[in-house]
Amino acid sequence: MGILNLHNYKNTKVPEEYWDCIADYLSCCENEINDISEESYSNIRWNEKKVCFQALLYSLGIPNGIHKQIEKEIRCPECGRKIELESVVSINYGYQSKRTRQKLEAKINKDVHGKIKNFIKFLKKYPMLGLLDDTGKEIENAIRSTKLQIIDNEIWYRARKPDKNNPLKIFTQKEMGKPPVDITPEGRFNHYGQPSLYLGNSDYVCAKEINDGNFQVICWIQKVYVKKAKILDLTDYSTINKLGEYPLLVAGLLISGELEEHNEKHKGFYKPEYAITRFIADLCRVNNIDGIKYGSAVRNETDKDSINLVLFNDNCYYYEGEPTLYSGNEKILARCGIEDDEIIFYCPTQK
Ligand SMILES: [Zn+2]
Repeated sequence: MGILNLHNYKNTKVPEEYWDCIADYLSCCENEINDISEESYSNIRWNEKKVCFQALLYSLGIPNGIHKQIEKEIRCPECGRKIELESVVSINYGYQSKRTRQKLEAKINKDVHGKIKNFIKFLKKYPMLGLLDDTGKEIENAIRSTKLQIIDNEIWYRARKPDKNNPLKIFTQKEMGKPPVDITPEGRFNHYGQPSLYLGNSDYVCAKEINDGNFQVICWIQKVYVKKAKILDLTDYSTINKLGEYPLLVAGLLISGELEEHNEKHKGFYKPEYAITRFIADLCRVNNIDGIKYGSAVRNETDKDSINLVLFNDNCYYYEGEPTLYSGNEKILARCGIEDDEIIFYCPTQK
């Protein structure tokens, strides 16, 4: 079900506010209505009602004088066909809240999108000099004034692939922590040689993370108990109120998608998309924020609540119990067995 996209109406003779009003309700034209039976209409379009298009315009208080122009320009949000004034359309009562969200995002984007784009360009060129840029300074202030979240008494997870040279090796708790300084690669929220503890909110999320988005892997999982951690939460903006609580520049960064960018083409050391996230990580660390909660870059439609947590402060977590073996696929699990007191398993995605 479509929502009228105002960006299609750039060269319009109809005032934008009228498009806004129409977009709050218009769902589809006669074409889609006639495609389904009267009976299924109420099921498929349960929150909708059929009305004459011009009656809709009257009820929205749109002056008569502009109706003909609207008729000329309007296209059905679903099929793109023209809509005549006297034709029947379907209107949806749930669009208003979605549209309020759209409007809020459009407003935020209008204010800061250009700034953010330019800043990211600058940062990719001069990753160490973010604070020389005015937007960089504004982002610092915005991060400082973002309301922090406290994570306390929560179990998070950490995964590790089996030892490449010795797949039978049973990992201990000691081996499930951060990598040593000299082999710490650059991460979304850390620089080379600066280990940070990356966690997931489930073993499944962790398995996906270490295996390029595919959970069908065998790995070791360590439970990590997080206590009294002051966190910058970059995930909690689903509702209008929540999005509105973030400072403007942080809200702009969140809806821009830049913080979760995952570019398949960038292999090896070249990760320009990390410049902005590492800038934010540095701002957090220098301001004594213990960590950052962020959406997993490998999540999809079915597991939208896949969340990661990176912790900079070693005092706000401890390991809970010994690591256990996780399998994302029962068939792979069937290939595991106990032999001579050792776990035998086969890891198909070993690199
Ligand atoms: Zn249509």
